[in-house]
Amino acid sequence: MKVNTVIIGGGISGLSAANFLSKKTLDFLILESSDRVGGTINSSKVDEYTLENGPNTVLENNTVIQELLSDINVSEELIYPDLKKISNRYLLINDRLEKIPLTIIEFLLTPILSIYSKIKIFSEILVPRHINDTNVESFVKRRFGKEFHDNLIVPFLTGIYADTTSKMSSKNTLKKMWELEQKHGSIIIGLIKEKNKNSKSKLFTINGGLSKITELLSKKFINQLMLNTKVTSIVKLNETYKITLNGGEDIFCKKIISTIPAYSLKDLVFDDMLKNALSKVNYNPIDVFHFGFDRDDLETKIDGFGVLTKPQDKKSFLGILFSSNIFQHVSNEKKFLITVLAGGDRQKDLCKESPKSLERQILNEILPLLRIKSEPKLKNHFRWSKGIPSYSMSVEKLQKDIEFFEENNKGFYVIGNYHLGVSVSDCIKNSKELIETKFN
Ligand SMILES: Cc1cc2nc3c(=O)[nH]c(=O)nc-3n(C[C@H](O)[C@H](O)[C@H](O)COP(=O)(O)OP(=O)(O)OC[C@H]3O[C@@H](n4cnc5c(N)ncnc54)[C@H](O)[C@@H]3O)c2cc1C
Repeated sequence: MKVNTVIIGGGISGLSAANFLSKKTLDFLILESSDRVGGTINSSKVDEYTLENGPNTVLENNTVIQELLSDINVSEELIYPDLKKISNRYLLINDRLEKIPLTIIEFLLTPILSIYSKIKIFSEILVPRHINDTNVESFVKRRFGKEFHDNLIVPFLTGIYADTTSKMSSKNTLKKMWELEQKHGSIIIGLIKEKNKNSKSKLFTINGGLSKITELLSKKFINQLMLNTKVTSIVKLNETYKITLNGGEDIFCKKIISTIPAYSLKDLVFDDMLKNALSKVNYNPIDVFHFGFDRDDLETKIDGFGVLTKPQDKKSFLGILFSSNIFQHVSNEKKFLITVLAGGDRQKDLCKESPKSLERQILNEILPLLRIKSEPKLKNHFRWSKGIPSYSMSVEKLQKDIEFFEENNKGFYVIGNYHLGVSVSDCIKNSKELIETKFN
């Protein structure tokens, strides 16, 4: 079979690329190895609950997302949380939920940081800017001190990247802080000077769950999408690429957009340098548990967005999302749904335990913590053995290797959440950028 462009992977990156490419040509195929689209986006309906086994929320922080949603006519179906209901976020202090300060008064009063640490934070304005990228731990400790790093940054970043701060690149994970430091010499000064520039991004989901987005996209490309179609090898010929599929069939194409994880692409790519760079990308495992309770079993009202843990808390989970507070439609009003994330680099051994035993451990910890008097009526578990890619100090080298590969292999493009940004919004934006710049 011959086609101009092959998009490998039917997750949000691949389907977004298809969406934007379809405005220029329909001469493409999307190859997806599994029997469903969406990849990491994975919503399900169990009893009356809407469960998200992958991403729970998408950040509406660029206009490309709006374009994509309008292309599939779902802009009107977006659900935004009530910001007042989710403004409170918690950390643990001595096994109690402690609110993360939002105002200057709360900051001065919070027990999350000592007086010494609060003074150290203000002295950030005197710390010289970094010349080179450094890991997140040393970046934050140098600017704001150890307590700020240990008590706030560690829980916050493990909630997003499931990784350890000493391994993560500050330039690529704390992008905003890095830019403010580079531009103004101080993050605090930068925040003050750019106060009016910071427009608030909105979180959203969609009625029925985020999978609705990828399902609607897949319906649009019914003639281009091949499910249960795993790419098993790619060979470069003179002016074309030969893609072999699991069934043995070959596809010849001029252009390839790879959106598959690094560990999948490394087995396909013919270039040793890229193969080597991709094999170094580490993915952290994540276990996602959903628990649904009767509201009558909550001894106190649970408010806010959720709670994050730090290593010193010695818990068997990274964080809890109070899902029914964030999006009311995920359960009926008599029920309360929470989503618990465990694993990441810090707790990777937990993701080797049997789900039942881990579930028990977690419930033993969270029932007294949240003052819930009965066992959940709904229990659901999903394991991502390779969940979230690490943004380590070698990510820039990886980006350079990919650029070098693309320059030497005309028409072969490599995008994906392991080097261009992990969030769903980044994936959508990067797909559009690729189509706009390389497919004219
Ligand atoms: C537990 C969890 C929670 C998350 N929470 C959030 C969140 O709240 N908000 C947010 O913005 N982001 C979140 N993320 C990150 C975000 O969901 C992902 O980064 C994003 O969905 C990745 O999309 P993708 O299309 O790039 O890759 P994927 O979703 O991995 O899609 C790649 C596709 O390629 C297919 N494939 C692989 N190999 C082959 C092959 N050889 N041939 C053909 N097809 C192949 C796979 O089957 C898959 O469908 C979360 C991630 C996880 C794991």
